Amino acid sequence: MATNPPILPYARQSVSDDDIEAVVEVLRSDWLTTGPKVEAFETAFAEFIGVAEAVAVANGTAALHAAMAAAGIRPGDEVIVPAMTFVATANAAVYQQARPVIADVDPATLLIDPDSVEKKITGRTKAIVAVDYAGQPCDYDALRRIADRHGLRLIADACHALGAEYKNKKVGVLADFTVFSFHPVKHITTGEGGIVTTGDRDAAECLRRFRSHGINANHRERSEKDTWRYEMESLGYNYRLTDFQCALGLSQLRTLPARIARRREIARAYDRAFGSFAHVKPLAIAPQVGHAYHLYVVRVRDRASVYGRLRQRGIGVNVHYLPVHLHEYYRRTFGTGAGDCPVAEQAYEEILSLPMFSAMAIDDLCRVVEAIAEEVEEHAA
Ligand SMILES: *Cc1c(COP(=O)(O)O)cnc(C)c1O
Repeated sequence: MATNPPILPYARQSVSDDDIEAVVEVLRSDWLTTGPKVEAFETAFAEFIGVAEAVAVANGTAALHAAMAAAGIRPGDEVIVPAMTFVATANAAVYQQARPVIADVDPATLLIDPDSVEKKITGRTKAIVAVDYAGQPCDYDALRRIADRHGLRLIADACHALGAEYKNKKVGVLADFTVFSFHPVKHITTGEGGIVTTGDRDAAECLRRFRSHGINANHRERSEKDTWRYEMESLGYNYRLTDFQCALGLSQLRTLPARIARRREIARAYDRAFGSFAHVKPLAIAPQVGHAYHLYVVRVRDRASVYGRLRQRGIGVNVHYLPVHLHEYYRRTFGTGAGDCPVAEQAYEEILSLPMFSAMAIDDLCRVVEAIAEEVEEHAA
């Protein structure tokens, strides 16, 4: 009986012996949570981005929630988010009892379409969320112009775009708040984890309070000052990231440039291979961007059957994403539905994320290209 080949996943973490040692060292120390590694990780991350402040939290979704709170999103506000994103982007607005308003995307890049954003603005709009889909930065100049003209905050969900650049500026300095995730499928991991970057020191204080119950001083600071007293100033959550996770993040951060370079190499190899294919269309890339390639997305016809045939061959392709407004919860709660964002809906029928991670071997890459050649290109001919 033939056994199926092992599944090549679309994403996978890389954890080295150095990473493991860094975590173990913290496990043997006095601080398991909110110790010296949190600040060390935040400082190193802020330095990598070139931004004043970075605030580490429990996961990327918590980072989005914290950014919404720090941006002043309140009940009844409207927050514009793109249709083509992970549901967490929109959920974060709902956590603040705001209404997510779904904007359509550009057909070539699947990034939020500034014209669609402009059309969705009302007197209640408070913020725009840019999602750097697949790892490609949005049109930040256009979004900033719209935000400034209407007095809106600009939040970036850059969970796909750690290390990406827009006009020679790193993603992380382009919005009022930028959010990253350290889930194992992302560029670097802390198991679960996330971070918010901002240039505004007061906003960073707000984020720090938000991640710890809205209390104005953390346990370590109190212990250093030898005082029992603390004040809860606002409603916050327990969104803290542990010290051993930050040790992992700090260790992973050292290899980030090499990881990004490797992802770009894999993307170039895919680009070259698919350049001569008539039935495989990689997403367009705007000039003046440095893509970080969290995902490598192609458009194909008859996606459902292509997906099935590739999975059958052990190629762990995936679909990112069912548009937000088509999810049952959003349809039921906010009355969204088919026809709201036709570009995202059409794209959803065709998109396929191919395996893309920094530890991917040349053999894996060849296996994917060969499978695509046979199951898409030759199948369509
Ligand atoms: C991964 C991701 C998130 C959420 O991050 P978690 O760390 O899993 O909470 C949010 N938005 C986008 C676009 C993501 O890819």
